Amino acid sequence: MSAIQKNVEASSEQYSSTFTKGDLVLPPAKKYLVLTCMDARIDPAQAFGIDLGDAHIIRNAGASAVDALRSIVISEQLLGTTEIVLVKHTGCGMLTFKNEDAYGVVEKSLGAEAVEELKAKRFDFLPFPHLENAVEDDVKFLKASKLVPDSATISGWVYEVETGKTRRVV
Ligand SMILES: [Zn+2]
Repeated sequence: MSAIQKNVEASSEQYSSTFTKGDLVLPPAKKYLVLTCMDARIDPAQAFGIDLGDAHIIRNAGASAVDALRSIVISEQLLGTTEIVLVKHTGCGMLTFKNEDAYGVVEKSLGAEAVEELKAKRFDFLPFPHLENAVEDDVKFLKASKLVPDSATISGWVYEVETGKTRRVV
């Protein structure tokens, strides 16, 4: 067993020994979802004040609304959430490359057939060159999408990995 797997086992033992929240219902109690980046430096529960069972937390590379749309529709239409809090962050990896760079890395690391697969799917890694603009663009995308109801409350934020602060952009 890997060290990571051992950590899962040990942590599960510890966590479940005092666990008391087994009766929470499926839909998020506070009817909102948080979309943020998968960056390892972000602790959404702590940084954004989310208790267990309160909200959906959707994470992907860059907190991309395009990438998250499937989960957002499920969250809103099937599980009753009505508010979206979108949080990108300083120092995001998505600010550091372009699609062609990622294609190049994939080719070098995984070979020509892997790149062919990307091309066949017209695969977009969804990088962005400017943080605040990307927050605004994603909020606009959600507001324009017919898959997100006009009644949804949507805000866009930036989390600062340097300070732990979250500031509102839009
Ligand atoms: Zn990021």
